[in-house]
Amino acid sequence: MIDFSLSEEQKAFQKTARDFARKEIAPSALDYDKNPRFPGDIIQKAHAAGLMNLTCPKEYGGQGLGLVDSSIITEELTVGCVALSSMFGINSLACGPILVGASPEQKMKFLLPLNQAGRTASFGLTEREAGSDAGSLKTRAKKEGDHYLLNGSKCFITNASYASLYTIFATLDPSKGAKGICGFIVPRESAGLSIGKVEDKMGQRALDVAEVILENVLVPRENLLGNEGEGFKWAMEALDEGRVNIATCGLGIARAAFECAVSYAKTRVQFGKPIGTFQAPNFMLADMAAAVESARLLTWYAGSLADQHKRFSREAAQAKFFATDAAMRVTTDAVQIHGGYGYTKEFVVEKLMRDAKLTQIYEGTNQVNRIVAGGWLVR
Ligand SMILES: Cc1cc2nc3c(=O)[nH]c(=O)nc-3n(C[C@H](O)[C@H](O)[C@H](O)COP(=O)(O)OP(=O)(O)OC[C@H]3O[C@@H](n4cnc5c(N)ncnc54)[C@H](O)[C@@H]3O)c2cc1C
Repeated sequence: MIDFSLSEEQKAFQKTARDFARKEIAPSALDYDKNPRFPGDIIQKAHAAGLMNLTCPKEYGGQGLGLVDSSIITEELTVGCVALSSMFGINSLACGPILVGASPEQKMKFLLPLNQAGRTASFGLTEREAGSDAGSLKTRAKKEGDHYLLNGSKCFITNASYASLYTIFATLDPSKGAKGICGFIVPRESAGLSIGKVEDKMGQRALDVAEVILENVLVPRENLLGNEGEGFKWAMEALDEGRVNIATCGLGIARAAFECAVSYAKTRVQFGKPIGTFQAPNFMLADMAAAVESARLLTWYAGSLADQHKRFSREAAQAKFFATDAAMRVTTDAVQIHGGYGYTKEFVVEKLMRDAKLTQIYEGTNQVNRIVAGGWLVR
């Protein structure tokens, strides 16, 4: 029998996350959207409430939860505001390569203090000329005795301006393609590391996204993840979990828009009746409900494979493109159901539509995620 009901423990942390989102995130979401700034107080409260570093093992200062549990929590936080919750949710992607590629000593040295203090990190893969084709990155790592020198720049790095540490991917030899790439743990205070252009974005405006510039940054040998040439593998493994998280973000945004649309459709009266009773908006609501629920099932399915330590790359990519395409459709329809008011700042649905667009682009565009999922089907 397949049982989709939550355990008592899951219901408890779902409630904690829902209450947190209602009290600490949602009330300031529109203000942060208008005036983007670092949500330091919200991050500290999320840390105190046990809502950060969800899948990181307890011995390294995380919550030690599985990916389905993490998705249950992240959905609730995202309903509050995807940009604010991603400012602390980013740790799971940023620290992912450390969890899969680092030694127990490295994890203890870098993750424990970061997580205990509620500090945040960044994942640095993308470059101006290497986006979807991340394996062609040009940031150079040069080996010199017992350390490496990093030179280059990363763009579109979430939380770059505020991170305490960065997982940076650089190549020892660009002619080797992905096989030349190494992963490094680079502390914020490293000499030669600076922050460049901060992006001014359409949506998810509270999400800090900036360039990381590396000029002769000296990284000791003990900060290398695994062995030389393994970096791309660690980045891709971290992205599997990251894609389940972004699927969850799509799900949370879609649910928020759906709930707004239902509530509006019940109360807005035209031609003497609530608009939700007319067939056209009513069918839109039915499609939205189906989209939200199927996005959740695909996301939980990918997470459940991860929790059973099974390969889940295809299912993660599939959940990512499905749930985030659903978010785009559902938010667009939610604006439509609000009519002219949906196009104004009076209702949150216009923000949700802008926020949803990004989920189709980052963690691999949805085209790239289809390439990943499709590739597994014919392998
Ligand atoms: C707000 C934001 C936050 C981000 N955060 C991070 C982060 O924290 N860390 C990080 O490393 N990166 C981050 N990224 C980068 C993100 O992952 C890339 O933007 C994304 O992978 C796409 O790369 P690109 O922007 O260079 O687009 P391009 O690769 O130039 O793609 C442009 C278009 O071409 C399509 N395309 C490209 N190649 C193919 C192909 N082979 N087949 C079919 N279609 C193709 C794409 O789907 C897209 O529609 C972030 C991006 C944004 C916008």
